[in-house]
Amino acid sequence: MNKINCNIIKDLLPLYIDNLTSNESNEIIEEHLNSCNECQIVYEQMNTPIEAEQEQNRENEIDYLKKVKTKTIKNYVFVFSIIAIVAILTFVFLIGIRVKSDDVNIVANVYDENEGSFKIVLSNGKRLNVTTRPISGMDDNGDIITAGYVLTPYSVLTLPGKDCNNYTIGYPLTRDFNITIRFRDKDVVYVVRSNQLLELKEPLSEGK
Ligand SMILES: [Zn+2]
Repeated sequence: MNKINCNIIKDLLPLYIDNLTSNESNEIIEEHLNSCNECQIVYEQMNTPIEAEQEQNRENEIDYLKKVKTKTIKNYVFVFSIIAIVAILTFVFLIGIRVKSDDVNIVANVYDENEGSFKIVLSNGKRLNVTTRPISGMDDNGDIITAGYVLTPYSVLTLPGKDCNNYTIGYPLTRDFNITIRFRDKDVVYVVRSNQLLELKEPLSEGK
């Protein structure tokens, strides 16, 4: 009788493990398992591998997610490194560092009674890059005209075939005109007054 019971229990164990048995059956199975060592062992053997397998699957899943995360972080680090390198190269080769007033010679020439040329020469052996911002003003007729320039000189590493160390810009002598040079250490302002180019000892206060 007991052997028959055992066989029935063993048949039911897979269903019991998968929670497919009724509450009534569960009571009988559990009662039997508590009193029958053999079935208890069979039950544990059936149950354990599944749990271990599930655990292994979970670990594999976690490992996979960790790998994906690490790879994603590595990708971000790589992309940011590239951006940083490009930014540094752009800065060094294209934009450069603001020039100090000591590193520059200014040469102003008068072409004729109407026009002069204003030349900035960089004397530190580097290439000169100048950004020019025109300043708008109004003439006597109320028309918008260019009343001056703000020049910002940058010192850039020399490149083969691109070693120009000077920058020239024309200016009108027929009307008042301001040229502000924005050095790293100070602003220097040149003004055209009465057909003459003068360097102002006291720089004009011009909003940034
Ligand atoms: Zn049994």
